[in-house]
Amino acid sequence: MISRLILIPLLTLIAAANAVTALAQDKGTVNPKPLPPLANPNDPNIGAKELFGRKVLPAAMPTRVLGFYAHGCIAGAEGLPINGDSWQVMRLSRNRNWAHPDMVALLKRLAARARKEAGWPGILVGDMSQPRGGPMLTGHASHQVGLDADIWLTPMPDRRLSRNDREDMSAVMMGRRDRLDIDPAAWTPRHLAVIRAAAKEPSVQRIFVNAAIKKALCREATGDRSWLSKVRPMYGHDYHFHVRIKCPAGPGECENQPEPAEGEGCSNGDLAYWFKDSVLHPKPPKVPPKPKPPMTLAQLPAACRDVLAAPDAMP
Ligand SMILES: [Zn+2]
Repeated sequence: MISRLILIPLLTLIAAANAVTALAQDKGTVNPKPLPPLANPNDPNIGAKELFGRKVLPAAMPTRVLGFYAHGCIAGAEGLPINGDSWQVMRLSRNRNWAHPDMVALLKRLAARARKEAGWPGILVGDMSQPRGGPMLTGHASHQVGLDADIWLTPMPDRRLSRNDREDMSAVMMGRRDRLDIDPAAWTPRHLAVIRAAAKEPSVQRIFVNAAIKKALCREATGDRSWLSKVRPMYGHDYHFHVRIKCPAGPGECENQPEPAEGEGCSNGDLAYWFKDSVLHPKPPKVPPKPKPPMTLAQLPAACRDVLAAPDAMP
């Protein structure tokens, strides 16, 4: 039997490691333990992720996006139902199926288009935002304002997934072992069709995919290729693609990101950076970098305080 004295530091270590490395593919549990209450919730140095990570429901406020994708929060978010005709939500234990209503509508539309245009039974939806957005205890730097969503590069199976499946199932890795191209055993023309359908949506601002996927899209896209400019290479994103929409119309304090550069982004010069050995296989730094202090509430738009303090929306 492991003594408690050993077990506690061990669990802390595991938790710390998870906080750093949590990825889209990390498995969850069907019985997530609620986070312990904070000893000093009013401490100004406390990470905003600790506060937003403890909110289970959206703020009962009119919908408003506050701040920037990697630096903000959302009031009045809407939940994507965990099952639809042509979508299912994964990793329910994370409680990240919340977003601006425009994003929820886009995902529903895209799910239907994936079936019609790409021949997928539907889409598997990964992380969107927390109920009130904000920074997360694990994973993403962005996804903070309800305008980002991850979609698995694995078609929805033709059955209702169990709670356990949704925590345990893994998406298919699209990259080849050497990371220089897609794995032809995994990649299909249907993958291109799904990403293209998303990129052609007018509200979509950017899509992030692994560089090997961008390379494949550049090689295989026929006809109108203007949508390729929205699809940008990004680290990770070889099991899922990331859809980002523009700031919704209407009043608010939503900060837009500059439009992606014109052009397909398909030249050797555009892609060379991503396939450099130092980028594909980065060497660990000689001196480990000092951990950055977490983003505090004071660093987010002031109205995010009201979002945190607001009562829960009706479930
Ligand atoms: Zn993402």
